[in-house]
Amino acid sequence: MSIIDKLSSGMNEAGNTITQKAKDISEQTRLTGEIAKNKARREEEIKKLGEAYYQARRKNEPENLEESVHEIELIDGILEKLTESLCRLKGIILCGQCGSEVPKGSLFCPSCGAQIKQPSVIRCGKCGAQLDAGSRFCIQCGTKIE
Ligand SMILES: [Zn+2]
Ligand SMILES: [Zn+2]
Repeated sequence: MSIIDKLSSGMNEAGNTITQKAKDISEQTRLTGEIAKNKARREEEIKKLGEAYYQARRKNEPENLEESVHEIELIDGILEKLTESLCRLKGIILCGQCGSEVPKGSLFCPSCGAQIKQPSVIRCGKCGAQLDAGSRFCIQCGTKIE
């Protein structure tokens, strides 16, 4: 391989890393936006729930809050998934106690000292690679995770 070839292949590799980084960053931005949107929606639903409860109590009617509660549960589920994806992308976990961002692999939170619950891992059925729970494809062999 000539020096020129070496140089240009090295440059391509750097280019690929930068492209992947840019992708990660735009994905992070997208997830952060989605999280903010869903948090706003949740706040809105909580307000509605409070208002409906208050009105029912005031009129002495039985309160019917099932629908609202169900809606908030759905939003909570979405928020949990979005937060999980964002954390995986950033290589961090959130402290269950104080919510601080903690580097992956930490055993204790540097902010509050709480013990960090380790994210559950799953194994690829084909090659046995260890994967983050929620992975959709194996990072070693590309098999779809059921
Ligand atoms: Zn903490
Ligand atoms: Zn695999």
